[in-house]
Amino acid sequence: MSQAQRPEIGLFADPLSNDVLQRFMLQGAPVRGELVSLDTAWREVTQRHVFPRAVRTYLGELSAAALLLSASLKFEGSLVLQIHGDGPVALLVAECDQAGRFRATAKLREGQVCPEEADLATLVNVHGKGRCVVTLDPASGSPNRQPYQGIVPFEGDSIADMLERYMSRSEQVPTRLWLAADEGRATGMMLQRLPDEGGAAVTDADGWNRLQQLADTVTRDELLALTPDAVARRLFWQETLHAFDARTAQFACSCSRDKVVGMLRMLGREEIESIVAERGSIGVRCEYCNTAYDFDAVDGVSLFLSEPPAPTSRARH
Ligand SMILES: [Zn+2]
Repeated sequence: MSQAQRPEIGLFADPLSNDVLQRFMLQGAPVRGELVSLDTAWREVTQRHVFPRAVRTYLGELSAAALLLSASLKFEGSLVLQIHGDGPVALLVAECDQAGRFRATAKLREGQVCPEEADLATLVNVHGKGRCVVTLDPASGSPNRQPYQGIVPFEGDSIADMLERYMSRSEQVPTRLWLAADEGRATGMMLQRLPDEGGAAVTDADGWNRLQQLADTVTRDELLALTPDAVARRLFWQETLHAFDARTAQFACSCSRDKVVGMLRMLGREEIESIVAERGSIGVRCEYCNTAYDFDAVDGVSLFLSEPPAPTSRARH
């Protein structure tokens, strides 16, 4: 049986869900790949907000990119990708952790129009002041709790371009990204050339260039229509890849009523009382998951009456 006729055996096992991250390595070369596919998890974002189509597309690409990059960083905590815009879009933000949990949202400037088919520069770099901020926020309990932040100016014409530059400059890991999103799916693929640490012998010196060339033939429609396994088979059917266990990705928002209470307490009693007096209640809406937290006059006062006891005094009556 020739190679072209061999039965359709997937490179990767059937994923546990349709929201999945799949890592692979190329045999004989220090090249790592990662594929991400978000279906249900991405619709958790698009169903909670009404964003113009172009905004939704770039936010989906940013979400896919966050999960791909997070999977490649040796780091415990959250990765936050932000694109600060100076045009109709003020902010695109996607945040994820290494367990594959992510959330994402966008802030638009009131009164400015986002054309349906706008390119990224039209949305975020009208005056040349757009920038991309990458934040690594260590998990609580990590030995080094200082967040790390890297900034790259808006360059190139896509989210993939901007993040590829960031990764090669700041992380010094040559990285390529292919990203796509629409209302129903956000997907992507990443290739990275790992440092040659003198471990396994490199028998395939051309592997990095070859895999990039193959990956460059993928189309947006293919990324949106195919499963990670089908993308890999379509692009790399002649290559020997080692697949790792697939991991599940999911939408998860870390907001809670307790966190909102903590934020309101920081505003101070006077401010809270004046808002309650003026409006009768306080409403706070999570920008990510759109959950509304409402506090009426009684809640507003009790924010201050039920302050948590100081660590040394066990109970106060
Ligand atoms: Zn939330």
